[in-house]
Amino acid sequence: MLHLLLLSALCAMAYGQCPNILTKAQWGGRAATCRTAMTTPVAYVVVHHTEGTACTTQTNCIAQAKSVQNYHMNSNGWCDAGYSFMVGEDGNVYEGRGWSSVGAHAPNYNSNSIGISVFGSYTSRNPNAAAQNAVQNLISCGVSRGFIRSTYILKGHRNVTATSCPGNTFYSTVASWPRFQA
Ligand SMILES: [Zn+2]
Repeated sequence: MLHLLLLSALCAMAYGQCPNILTKAQWGGRAATCRTAMTTPVAYVVVHHTEGTACTTQTNCIAQAKSVQNYHMNSNGWCDAGYSFMVGEDGNVYEGRGWSSVGAHAPNYNSNSIGISVFGSYTSRNPNAAAQNAVQNLISCGVSRGFIRSTYILKGHRNVTATSCPGNTFYSTVASWPRFQA
């Protein structure tokens, strides 16, 4: 635990606004079965909800991360969780494909975006402040670390394909954030 705290502190010093990001090894995720490298910095950020169960503790969010990854790998037959990162209402970020691998979350945008999905369903409520801050800080972190262009365009999943994702209420919130373009 002390190591994690020290790492968090060092990351915060080095990268400004980076949230707490649990690597796949830290949350006990499965290794990817294949990977396509992504050219960075990317031009887009695409926001999702998982439409699964929300979580407010690290233990429960780890269970959700595993559930999403297992569904994407076992049922969809993908190499890994489809999202670049997943975010919980515990305020933590859970690494999926990470900053520099092509994702499987938004057709035509997988090779030039970071896909961030919040655990839960946000049709009629917003993710809590901890989750919203984690998403916004993750974007800032990606810019400061050179994985996302400073001129990035923010989109909701529904802006790039026919889906209700990331839910009506959360979509309205995302649409009010900086650099959003429908
Ligand atoms: Zn989505």
